[in-house]
Amino acid sequence: MDYMVRALRLAERARRTCKPNPAVGAIVVRDDRIVGEGYTQPVGGAHAEIKALEQAGALAHGSVLYVTLEPCSHHGRTAPCVDAVIAAGIREVHVAMVDPSPWVAGRGVERLTQSQIPVSIGSHGDEARQLNEAYLSWVEHGRPLVLGIPAASPRRTALSLNARNLSENGNDLRLDVDRIVFDSDDAEITLTSESWQATLQTLATQQVQSLILVATPERLYELEAGGLVDRVLAADALMDDPASISRMTRQTPDDVPGVFVSESESCLRAS
Ligand SMILES: [Zn+2]
Repeated sequence: MDYMVRALRLAERARRTCKPNPAVGAIVVRDDRIVGEGYTQPVGGAHAEIKALEQAGALAHGSVLYVTLEPCSHHGRTAPCVDAVIAAGIREVHVAMVDPSPWVAGRGVERLTQSQIPVSIGSHGDEARQLNEAYLSWVEHGRPLVLGIPAASPRRTALSLNARNLSENGNDLRLDVDRIVFDSDDAEITLTSESWQATLQTLATQQVQSLILVATPERLYELEAGGLVDRVLAADALMDDPASISRMTRQTPDDVPGVFVSESESCLRAS
């Protein structure tokens, strides 16, 4: 059995509930048998490693840990996982990828190595990156992951967006992104690339890690060329069902000028 693949499947379960934390899966293996499993709990709850170690109990001593992201090394809302891994007597650790966030950035691996625990890095690293694409954009670039959807008239599209058809590779994007933003098609209030960059940074400070931007094709390609749009999705993601807009709503950003968000009332007012 490929334990890292199993750990990735566990991480997948946390993907929609763990924000703003990354989705992580962890497995404790002893004598080729899984003795503990865990994945990131909703914010403030235990990280994946802690859940897996708890389940393993005393069996963790002398076991091997497989984890999809480097164990954390800092005191955040919870104590550092790396301390728990060392205290549990884990003898070897496999991590799919290092956590590039400024508050970990290799220090978890360093702590393990200093404690004479061998660490191997990189097994299924690409899948691990893919899984936390939005988190990684947020920590590495200081902006949300931006998925563009082209529309001839973004504001009219806001009124006729069928969320049920909003999908990429069969995934319902409503559940995967934190915001849906409609670019203005009014030239006077259209954001320049520069101000759009500032807007994305503001959204990042509000812990928005991913968003869909509905904008004209020209605009999307301009922003994509400027490195501000990660992918442009197919236009057939758009259909009509005004009622669905309110169901997509998360919070409305208060202080982000010039964009229309997927908050039903503001969309309607803006039109
Ligand atoms: Zn942790």
